[in-house]
Amino acid sequence: MARSTKVSRRKMPGGLKIRVRVDLKKNDTVKVIAGRDKGKTGRVLSIDREAGRVLVEHVAMVKRHTRPNPSKQIKGGIAERESPVSSSNVLLVCPGCHKAVRVAHKIEKIGDKTRRLRVCRKCGAPLDKKA
Ligand SMILES: [Zn+2]
Repeated sequence: MARSTKVSRRKMPGGLKIRVRVDLKKNDTVKVIAGRDKGKTGRVLSIDREAGRVLVEHVAMVKRHTRPNPSKQIKGGIAERESPVSSSNVLLVCPGCHKAVRVAHKIEKIGDKTRRLRVCRKCGAPLDKKA
C-alpha cells in the first residue's frame, strides 16, 4: 500500500531554504496523477513552496483524532482532514480544454513592465484570470 510520506525539507546547510518552483496558485483546479487519490480533481487550498507540497480539497484525506478544547470551540472525536501531496503528483486542469496539462509561460509586456503569464501547454489558453 502507500509508502511512508516523509516530507523532505529542501534545506541547504546553514538553514537556507530552497523554494521549489510550483506553478500553482490557490483555488486552482488540479488533477491528481499519482498516488492513493490518482484521478481525483480538487481545488488547491494551500501551497507549501518550501516543501513543494500542496493541499488539495478532498484529496489525501486523513483521520485526525482530536481532543476537545472548549476554549477554542474544538470538538473532540475523529475528524477528516486533507494532508499535503507533492506538487509533482498533481497537474493543473486547463479551463480551456478541460485536460490536465503542464504549464507554459508567456511573457507579456505592458508598457515597460513584463509579466509572466501562465498558459496551457496544449491549447495555449491563459490560466490566470485577467485582473
Ligand atoms: Zn488547455
